[in-house]
Amino acid sequence: MQGDGIVIVGGGICGLATALALHRKGIPSLILEQAESLRATGFAITIHTNGWRALDQLGVGSKLRLTARSLDSFHEIFLDKGVDRRFPFGKEEIRTVKRNDLIEAMAKELPAGTIHFGCRVVAITLDAFSSDPMLKLHDGSVIKSKVVIGCDGVNSVVSRFLELKPPNFYDLCAIRSFTNYPTGHGLDNEFTRIRKGGLLVVRAPVDDNIVYWLVGDNCRSRDSSIPQDMEHFKQSIVQKIQAMDPDIVEMVEKSDIHSLSVYPLRCCPPWDILLGNFHKGNVVVAGDAMHVMTPFLGQGGSACLEDAVVLARCMAQTLSLVDLKSNGQLMLWGKATDAFEQYIRERRMRLFWLSLQVYLIGLLDEPSTSTLIRFVCSCLLILLFRDFQGHTKYDCGRL
Ligand SMILES: Cc1cc2nc3c(=O)[nH]c(=O)nc-3n(C[C@H](O)[C@H](O)[C@H](O)COP(=O)(O)OP(=O)(O)OC[C@H]3O[C@@H](n4cnc5c(N)ncnc54)[C@H](O)[C@@H]3O)c2cc1C
Repeated sequence: MQGDGIVIVGGGICGLATALALHRKGIPSLILEQAESLRATGFAITIHTNGWRALDQLGVGSKLRLTARSLDSFHEIFLDKGVDRRFPFGKEEIRTVKRNDLIEAMAKELPAGTIHFGCRVVAITLDAFSSDPMLKLHDGSVIKSKVVIGCDGVNSVVSRFLELKPPNFYDLCAIRSFTNYPTGHGLDNEFTRIRKGGLLVVRAPVDDNIVYWLVGDNCRSRDSSIPQDMEHFKQSIVQKIQAMDPDIVEMVEKSDIHSLSVYPLRCCPPWDILLGNFHKGNVVVAGDAMHVMTPFLGQGGSACLEDAVVLARCMAQTLSLVDLKSNGQLMLWGKATDAFEQYIRERRMRLFWLSLQVYLIGLLDEPSTSTLIRFVCSCLLILLFRDFQGHTKYDCGRL
């Protein structure tokens, strides 16, 4: 495998979006993905207006809209308090997208040979003479590169190289799956969030037959491995949500057991976003590796897409491309560092506000949060985020 140019670590939403954005700007890159094939973690994702803007810049928005269900309102239910209210999304574009559709749409637009599967990066070092990044793979091989972009998610090797602080754990786990209703689910196009005690259930239709759901539950486990006995695990969730409406209990009972996953929620606190050194020389991070957030705003994936557009734009503006006629590949020449500084300048405050909002909501949801802290969080949310959906109005600009 030939490194030499730009190497992206991780072929998830962010890695693929970044490679595609660079490709649209005429800059080749190579993705190293540890899995053996394209792999979507979780069944579906909601993408807000800001994410669709980024997808349009990547040239895959129109295609994805053909299958992504448009949602028209947010339905919030607090069973303990008897609150049941709906907020129309109005002009906002919010759709549920199957994660596989999203990653496949982006991967298909990449030149053949861009993604290298089965390549787990275990360490990064800098060449003693040139300071070029060197990537050590699990099989002992070493790939030399000019630029490394770490899109390797929450347990990022690249973040460790940059000495970023590991994200915090919450006392909450997300249990996710989907349910197929062969004769149709009959639900409105609503994003529904139901709370009862410490339990949270989120539900969104994906198409006429499929519903994506998530149960947020207290947990102290830091292990996202799949439970051994899935049927038993599913029944334990069903037991926990017995006090919810029968259609919710039925949804979980009839869900696809193979898609059931448990994810201990993690989040970068806002001050780490404000102070983090997100690049060192020609190595930079993007996506969850830079700013993992809890799913309370449904913005993690869209923020990855924004990162990709901004990063590729900064790189195209700053770097010169010189055809060194090596294997017919364009090679990079120029100061990647300048591009990364510009990228981080553009992203930092956007990510700070997103992470602050998500952090405050997360504290409200955490069972261990004291009454006083809850009161302070509520006041800050009202004061700073009066327009609660303001985060969806962000425009990452043209590629
Ligand atoms: C429960 C839950 C619900 C969510 N819901 C939403 C939502 O509705 N809307 C939304 O916008 N966002 C949502 N998110 C957030 C969103 O899923 C993430 O922000 C997004 O998937 C992050 O993408 P990524 O590419 O940065 O990281 P990942 O998706 O984690 O991808 C990282 C990739 O890197 C690979 N990798 C890791 N380490 C290495 C290595 N050392 N070498 C090579 N490859 C490596 C992995 O195999 C993986 O393919 C949710 C998150 C959770 C947990």
